[in-house]
Amino acid sequence: MRIKILGAYGGRFGDLGTTCIQISESILIDAGNIMRSLGENCLLVNHVLLTHAHLDHIVDIPFMIDYTFRYREQPLEIIGCRETLSAVRDYVMNWNIWPEFSSIRLINSGDFAVSYTPIEPLKSFQLEGFEITPFRSNHTIPTLGYVVKKENRGFLFTGDTYKNPQIWRRLNEDREIKALITEVSYPSYMHNLAEVSKHYTPKILEEELRMLRRDDVEIYIMHLKPNSMSELLREIPQVLPDVKILSDGDEIII
Ligand SMILES: [Zn+2]
Ligand SMILES: [Zn+2]
Repeated sequence: MRIKILGAYGGRFGDLGTTCIQISESILIDAGNIMRSLGENCLLVNHVLLTHAHLDHIVDIPFMIDYTFRYREQPLEIIGCRETLSAVRDYVMNWNIWPEFSSIRLINSGDFAVSYTPIEPLKSFQLEGFEITPFRSNHTIPTLGYVVKKENRGFLFTGDTYKNPQIWRRLNEDREIKALITEVSYPSYMHNLAEVSKHYTPKILEEELRMLRRDDVEIYIMHLKPNSMSELLREIPQVLPDVKILSDGDEIII
């Protein structure tokens, strides 16, 4: 499996993109940086799995559907927990902030431009040859992480997260998971902010990683906050020498 990090950061600044992972040409996890990274290839995206409704994870959905709806032949399927879908539908794509594309018909097929598919934690489903298992993350609003597998190999993506024993239990129990993609948002001295906003610091992740009883899992981190970047790039190699820090455009082969 080859996945591409279209957006790797926890905020927008300069050219930096926010969370967006491409698992195939038609499936993305989160929608933080679609338009600038994919260009015309955004026409191929048919499914977006959302972790949660924070702006850095959904920001390009309105722009993508606005650009693609006149060419599309099938709805853009937005997949997530009920709370996430209702936040996108009721607060953003509601005619007030952006058109309600779930009630606008495609010119080329007559289907609606957007469809919403609710999913539940721990109920696995198949999507274009991938087996996807959502699980509840520990963040300030309802959030899902995902285990994504194809041909008995896969990765676990935590989404935005704070301490969550479930991550380590899953990794310890399921050796088909070959990679962990998680987050570090703030330097360790900002642990109070990390606790209220439910994000990891390098030290919190380092403590959490002690629960991992495997040494064959590649560990990647993303979601660095641009306003703390230089501190994080100094601290992470010291506290977490074995993790790789992801940047926009990176590819991971699993
Ligand atoms: Zn975020
Ligand atoms: Zn968030």
